[in-house]
Amino acid sequence: MDKIRLGISTCLLGENVRYDGGHKLDRFLTDTLGQYVEYVPVCPEVECGLSVPREAMHLEGDPESPRLVTLRTKQDMTERMVSWAKKRVVDLEKEGLCGFIFKSDSPSSGMERIRVYNEKGMPVKKGVGMFATIFMDHFPLLPVEDEGRLHDPKLRENFVERIFTLKRWREVLAKKESRGNLVDFHTQHKMLILSHSPKHYQIMGKLVAQVKGIPLKELYQKYQNILMEALQLKSTPKKNANVLMHMMGYFKEQLSSDEKQELLEVIDHYRREYIPLIVPITLVNHSVRKYDQSYLKQQVYLNPHPLELQLRNHV
Ligand code: SF4
Repeated sequence: MDKIRLGISTCLLGENVRYDGGHKLDRFLTDTLGQYVEYVPVCPEVECGLSVPREAMHLEGDPESPRLVTLRTKQDMTERMVSWAKKRVVDLEKEGLCGFIFKSDSPSSGMERIRVYNEKGMPVKKGVGMFATIFMDHFPLLPVEDEGRLHDPKLRENFVERIFTLKRWREVLAKKESRGNLVDFHTQHKMLILSHSPKHYQIMGKLVAQVKGIPLKELYQKYQNILMEALQLKSTPKKNANVLMHMMGYFKEQLSSDEKQELLEVIDHYRREYIPLIVPITLVNHSVRKYDQSYLKQQVYLNPHPLELQLRNHV
Protein backbone atom coordinates (compact mmCIF):
# COMPACT_ATOMS: atom_id res chain seq x y z
CA MET A 1 0.00 0.00 0.00
CA ASP A 2 1.28 3.51 -0.83
CA LYS A 3 1.38 5.93 2.05
CA ILE A 4 -1.93 7.46 3.14
CA ARG A 5 -2.17 11.18 2.45
CA LEU A 6 -3.45 13.15 5.43
CA GLY A 7 -3.83 16.86 5.96
CA ILE A 8 -2.41 18.11 9.25
CA SER A 9 -2.04 21.35 11.17
CA THR A 10 1.58 22.29 10.46
CA CYS A 11 2.58 22.99 14.08
CA LEU A 12 1.89 19.33 15.01
CA LEU A 13 4.83 18.36 12.80
CA GLY A 14 7.21 20.46 14.89
CA GLU A 15 7.34 23.47 12.55
CA ASN A 16 7.77 26.79 14.34
CA VAL A 17 4.64 28.44 12.96
CA ARG A 18 2.69 29.26 16.14
CA TYR A 19 1.88 32.81 17.16
CA ASP A 20 4.69 32.69 19.75
CA GLY A 21 7.23 31.23 17.30
CA GLY A 22 6.91 27.74 18.81
CA HIS A 23 5.43 24.41 17.70
CA LYS A 24 3.28 21.59 19.09
CA LEU A 25 5.18 18.53 17.90
CA ASP A 26 3.22 15.31 18.47
CA ARG A 27 5.53 12.29 18.44
CA PHE A 28 2.79 9.71 17.87
CA LEU A 29 1.78 11.54 14.70
CA THR A 30 5.30 12.02 13.37
CA ASP A 31 7.14 8.88 14.52
CA THR A 32 4.44 6.19 14.74
CA LEU A 33 1.54 7.07 12.43
CA GLY A 34 4.03 8.95 10.27
CA GLN A 35 5.50 5.63 9.06
CA TYR A 36 2.30 4.96 7.11
CA VAL A 37 1.27 8.48 6.28
CA GLU A 38 2.39 11.27 4.00
CA TYR A 39 1.33 14.54 5.59
CA VAL A 40 0.08 17.60 3.74
CA PRO A 41 0.70 20.44 6.23
CA VAL A 42 -1.65 23.39 6.46
CA CYS A 43 -1.12 26.38 8.77
CA PRO A 44 -4.09 28.69 8.17
CA GLU A 45 -2.66 31.68 10.04
CA VAL A 46 0.71 31.65 8.26
CA GLU A 47 -0.73 30.69 4.86
CA CYS A 48 -3.27 33.53 4.95
CA GLY A 49 -0.30 35.91 5.21
CA LEU A 50 0.32 36.48 8.93
CA SER A 51 3.84 36.56 10.32
CA VAL A 52 5.66 34.43 12.91
CA PRO A 53 5.58 35.54 15.66
CA ARG A 54 2.23 37.36 15.55
CA GLU A 55 -0.41 38.65 17.88
CA ALA A 56 -2.50 35.89 19.48
CA MET A 57 -6.16 35.76 18.46
CA HIS A 58 -9.40 34.21 19.56
CA LEU A 59 -13.01 33.72 18.42
CA GLU A 60 -15.66 36.11 19.63
CA GLY A 61 -19.35 36.86 19.13
CA ASP A 62 -21.99 34.32 18.12
CA PRO A 63 -20.63 30.75 18.56
CA GLU A 64 -22.52 29.75 15.36
CA SER A 65 -20.69 32.37 13.26
CA PRO A 66 -17.89 33.88 15.34
CA ARG A 67 -15.32 36.50 14.33
CA LEU A 68 -11.56 35.87 14.47
CA VAL A 69 -10.05 38.80 16.34
CA THR A 70 -6.55 39.58 17.67
CA LEU A 71 -6.34 39.89 21.45
CA ARG A 72 -4.43 43.14 21.98
CA THR A 73 -5.14 45.41 19.00
CA LYS A 74 -8.57 43.90 18.22
CA GLN A 75 -7.95 43.49 14.49
CA ASP A 76 -10.68 41.46 12.81
CA MET A 77 -9.05 38.71 10.71
CA THR A 78 -12.31 36.99 9.73
CA GLU A 79 -12.56 38.10 6.07
CA ARG A 80 -8.88 37.44 5.44
CA MET A 81 -9.08 33.92 6.89
CA VAL A 82 -12.38 33.01 5.22
CA SER A 83 -11.37 34.12 1.72
CA TRP A 84 -8.02 32.28 1.99
CA ALA A 85 -9.66 29.12 3.42
CA LYS A 86 -12.28 28.94 0.66
CA LYS A 87 -9.51 28.86 -1.97
CA ARG A 88 -7.30 26.50 0.04
CA VAL A 89 -9.96 23.79 0.34
CA VAL A 90 -10.43 23.82 -3.44
CA ASP A 91 -6.63 23.34 -3.83
CA LEU A 92 -6.75 20.49 -1.31
CA GLU A 93 -9.17 18.57 -3.55
CA LYS A 94 -6.13 17.70 -5.72
CA GLU A 95 -4.19 16.21 -2.79
CA GLY A 96 -6.17 12.96 -2.51
CA LEU A 97 -6.51 13.35 1.25
CA CYS A 98 -7.89 10.44 3.30
CA GLY A 99 -8.42 12.64 6.38
CA PHE A 100 -7.21 15.61 8.41
CA ILE A 101 -5.66 15.96 11.87
CA PHE A 102 -6.37 19.35 13.40
CA LYS A 103 -4.65 21.15 16.27
CA SER A 104 -7.01 21.20 19.23
CA ASP A 105 -8.04 24.47 20.95
CA SER A 106 -7.00 26.68 18.05
CA PRO A 107 -9.36 29.47 16.86
CA SER A 108 -8.22 28.71 13.28
CA SER A 109 -7.57 24.96 13.27
CA GLY A 110 -9.59 23.45 16.15
CA MET A 111 -12.42 21.14 15.11
CA GLU A 112 -14.65 21.33 18.21
CA ARG A 113 -15.19 22.90 21.64
CA ILE A 114 -13.21 26.04 20.80
CA ARG A 115 -13.67 28.98 23.17
CA VAL A 116 -15.84 31.79 21.79
CA TYR A 117 -15.86 34.96 23.92
CA ASN A 118 -18.94 37.14 24.42
CA GLU A 119 -18.90 40.95 24.80
CA LYS A 120 -18.20 40.57 28.54
CA GLY A 121 -15.10 38.50 27.78
CA MET A 122 -16.66 35.25 29.02
CA PRO A 123 -15.89 32.13 26.96
CA VAL A 124 -18.20 29.28 25.94
CA LYS A 125 -16.57 26.15 24.54
CA LYS A 126 -18.94 25.79 21.60
CA GLY A 127 -16.97 27.06 18.61
CA VAL A 128 -15.13 25.53 15.69
CA GLY A 129 -11.91 26.98 14.28
CA MET A 130 -12.42 29.11 11.21
CA PHE A 131 -10.42 27.00 8.77
CA ALA A 132 -11.69 23.73 10.30
CA THR A 133 -15.30 24.87 9.73
CA ILE A 134 -14.71 25.56 6.06
CA PHE A 135 -12.69 22.35 5.60
CA MET A 136 -15.36 20.13 7.21
CA ASP A 137 -18.14 21.80 5.18
CA HIS A 138 -16.19 21.20 1.99
CA PHE A 139 -15.25 17.56 2.79
CA PRO A 140 -18.16 16.34 4.96
CA LEU A 141 -17.31 12.64 4.69
CA LEU A 142 -13.54 12.82 5.23
CA PRO A 143 -12.35 11.41 8.58
CA VAL A 144 -11.16 14.24 10.85
CA GLU A 145 -9.75 14.29 14.36
CA ASP A 146 -7.62 16.52 16.53
CA GLU A 147 -4.38 15.47 18.22
CA GLY A 148 -5.95 15.76 21.69
CA ARG A 149 -8.77 13.33 20.89
CA LEU A 150 -6.26 10.97 19.25
CA HIS A 151 -4.76 10.35 22.70
CA ASP A 152 -7.98 8.42 23.49
CA PRO A 153 -7.27 4.83 22.33
CA LYS A 154 -10.84 4.22 21.09
CA LEU A 155 -11.00 7.42 19.06
CA ARG A 156 -7.51 6.74 17.73
CA GLU A 157 -8.48 3.23 16.62
CA ASN A 158 -11.62 4.49 14.92
CA PHE A 159 -9.78 7.24 13.07
CA VAL A 160 -6.96 4.98 11.90
CA GLU A 161 -9.44 2.32 10.76
CA ARG A 162 -11.31 4.92 8.73
CA ILE A 163 -8.24 6.35 7.01
CA PHE A 164 -6.91 2.90 6.11
CA THR A 165 -10.34 1.89 4.75
CA LEU A 166 -10.66 5.07 2.74
CA LYS A 167 -7.19 4.45 1.30
CA ARG A 168 -8.19 0.92 0.22
CA TRP A 169 -11.39 2.34 -1.28
CA ARG A 170 -9.38 4.96 -3.20
CA GLU A 171 -7.33 2.09 -4.63
CA VAL A 172 -10.57 0.58 -5.95
CA LEU A 173 -11.51 3.97 -7.42
CA ALA A 174 -8.14 4.13 -9.18
CA LYS A 175 -8.98 0.92 -11.07
CA LYS A 176 -11.50 0.71 -13.89
CA GLU A 177 -15.02 0.96 -12.46
CA SER A 178 -16.63 -2.47 -12.37
CA ARG A 179 -19.32 -4.19 -10.38
CA GLY A 180 -16.88 -7.04 -9.70
CA ASN A 181 -14.33 -4.70 -8.07
CA LEU A 182 -17.03 -3.18 -5.88
CA VAL A 183 -18.34 -6.61 -4.83
CA ASP A 184 -14.77 -7.76 -4.00
CA PHE A 185 -14.15 -4.69 -1.83
CA HIS A 186 -17.48 -5.11 -0.07
CA THR A 187 -16.89 -8.82 0.55
CA GLN A 188 -13.52 -8.10 2.20
CA HIS A 189 -14.98 -5.36 4.39
CA LYS A 190 -18.21 -7.05 5.50
CA MET A 191 -17.09 -7.90 9.04
CA LEU A 192 -15.46 -4.51 9.49
CA ILE A 193 -18.68 -2.75 8.47
CA LEU A 194 -20.70 -5.03 10.75
CA SER A 195 -18.44 -4.08 13.68
CA HIS A 196 -19.43 -0.44 13.22
CA SER A 197 -23.07 -0.68 12.24
CA PRO A 198 -25.32 -3.71 11.73
CA LYS A 199 -27.85 -1.34 10.14
CA HIS A 200 -25.40 -0.05 7.50
CA TYR A 201 -24.19 -3.63 6.96
CA GLN A 202 -27.74 -4.60 5.93
CA ILE A 203 -28.23 -1.53 3.71
CA MET A 204 -24.88 -2.05 1.95
CA GLY A 205 -25.56 -5.75 1.48
CA LYS A 206 -28.82 -4.92 -0.31
CA LEU A 207 -27.18 -2.18 -2.37
CA VAL A 208 -24.42 -4.49 -3.59
CA ALA A 209 -26.88 -7.35 -4.27
CA GLN A 210 -28.96 -5.21 -6.65
CA VAL A 211 -25.93 -3.85 -8.49
CA LYS A 212 -27.46 -4.46 -11.90
CA GLY A 213 -30.32 -1.95 -11.38
CA ILE A 214 -28.14 1.15 -10.77
CA PRO A 215 -25.72 2.95 -13.13
CA LEU A 216 -22.14 2.18 -12.06
CA LYS A 217 -21.14 5.76 -11.23
CA GLU A 218 -24.17 6.28 -9.03
CA LEU A 219 -23.60 2.93 -7.35
CA TYR A 220 -19.97 3.80 -6.49
CA GLN A 221 -21.02 7.19 -5.12
CA LYS A 222 -23.83 5.74 -3.02
CA TYR A 223 -21.61 2.96 -1.72
CA GLN A 224 -18.84 5.40 -0.76
CA ASN A 225 -21.25 7.68 1.13
CA ILE A 226 -22.78 4.82 3.11
CA LEU A 227 -19.35 3.32 3.82
CA MET A 228 -18.02 6.57 5.29
CA GLU A 229 -21.23 7.09 7.25
CA ALA A 230 -21.01 3.56 8.67
CA LEU A 231 -17.40 3.95 9.78
CA GLN A 232 -18.19 7.22 11.56
CA LEU A 233 -20.18 5.12 14.04
CA LYS A 234 -17.91 3.73 16.71
CA SER A 235 -17.44 0.00 17.13
CA THR A 236 -18.14 -1.17 20.71
CA PRO A 237 -17.32 -4.35 22.69
CA LYS A 238 -20.93 -5.48 22.11
CA LYS A 239 -20.73 -4.96 18.33
CA ASN A 240 -17.28 -6.59 18.14
CA ALA A 241 -18.41 -9.56 20.22
CA ASN A 242 -21.33 -9.97 17.79
CA VAL A 243 -18.89 -10.02 14.85
CA LEU A 244 -16.59 -12.51 16.61
CA MET A 245 -19.54 -14.85 17.29
CA HIS A 246 -20.63 -14.48 13.67
CA MET A 247 -17.14 -15.44 12.49
CA MET A 248 -16.98 -18.34 14.90
CA GLY A 249 -20.10 -19.70 13.18
CA TYR A 250 -17.97 -20.39 10.09
CA PHE A 251 -15.73 -22.93 11.85
CA LYS A 252 -17.54 -23.95 15.02
CA GLU A 253 -18.24 -27.44 13.67
CA GLN A 254 -14.50 -27.99 13.31
CA LEU A 255 -13.60 -26.84 16.84
CA SER A 256 -13.18 -29.37 19.64
CA SER A 257 -15.51 -28.72 22.60
CA ASP A 258 -12.51 -27.42 24.57
CA GLU A 259 -11.55 -25.00 21.82
CA LYS A 260 -15.15 -23.86 21.47
CA GLN A 261 -15.42 -23.27 25.22
CA GLU A 262 -12.16 -21.34 25.31
CA LEU A 263 -13.16 -19.07 22.42
CA LEU A 264 -16.61 -18.40 23.89
CA GLU A 265 -15.03 -17.49 27.24
CA VAL A 266 -12.49 -15.18 25.65
CA ILE A 267 -15.19 -13.41 23.60
CA ASP A 268 -17.28 -13.00 26.74
CA HIS A 269 -14.34 -11.61 28.71
CA TYR A 270 -13.69 -9.16 25.92
CA ARG A 271 -17.39 -8.15 25.79
CA ARG A 272 -17.23 -7.42 29.54
CA GLU A 273 -14.08 -5.34 28.89
CA TYR A 274 -11.75 -7.48 31.03
CA ILE A 275 -9.36 -8.09 28.13
CA PRO A 276 -8.49 -6.19 24.92
CA LEU A 277 -9.87 -6.99 21.46
CA ILE A 278 -6.51 -8.29 20.26
CA VAL A 279 -6.98 -11.44 22.41
CA PRO A 280 -10.14 -12.88 20.77
CA ILE A 281 -8.96 -11.60 17.38
CA THR A 282 -5.71 -13.58 17.76
CA LEU A 283 -7.65 -16.74 18.68
CA VAL A 284 -10.06 -16.32 15.75
CA ASN A 285 -7.14 -15.65 13.41
CA HIS A 286 -5.49 -18.84 14.64
CA SER A 287 -8.62 -20.93 13.88
CA VAL A 288 -9.13 -19.24 10.51
CA ARG A 289 -5.63 -20.34 9.50
CA LYS A 290 -5.83 -23.75 11.11
CA TYR A 291 -9.14 -24.60 9.41
CA ASP A 292 -8.26 -22.75 6.23
CA GLN A 293 -11.41 -20.61 6.20
CA SER A 294 -11.05 -18.92 2.81
CA TYR A 295 -13.96 -16.48 3.28
CA LEU A 296 -12.72 -15.28 6.66
CA LYS A 297 -9.09 -15.16 5.53
CA GLN A 298 -9.94 -12.25 3.23
CA GLN A 299 -11.74 -10.27 5.96
CA VAL A 300 -9.99 -6.94 6.54
CA TYR A 301 -11.51 -6.96 10.04
CA LEU A 302 -8.92 -9.50 11.15
CA ASN A 303 -6.09 -7.25 10.07
CA PRO A 304 -7.37 -3.70 9.40
CA HIS A 305 -4.18 -1.76 10.19
CA PRO A 306 -0.54 -2.54 11.05
CA LEU A 307 -0.04 -4.36 14.36
CA GLU A 308 2.77 -1.94 15.19
CA LEU A 309 0.14 0.73 15.86
CA GLN A 310 -1.07 -1.42 18.80
CA LEU A 311 -4.61 -0.15 18.37
CA ARG A 312 -6.51 -3.16 19.66
CA ASN A 313 -4.45 -3.54 22.81
CA HIS A 314 -6.52 -1.30 25.08
CA VAL A 315 -9.38 -2.32 27.40
S1 SF4 B 1 -2.89 25.76 15.31
FE1 SF4 B 1 -3.22 26.00 13.14
S2 SF4 B 1 -2.98 28.18 12.76
FE2 SF4 B 1 -2.10 27.76 14.77
S3 SF4 B 1 0.05 27.39 14.34
FE3 SF4 B 1 -0.94 25.41 14.34
S4 SF4 B 1 -1.42 25.09 12.20
FE4 SF4 B 1 -1.01 27.25 12.41
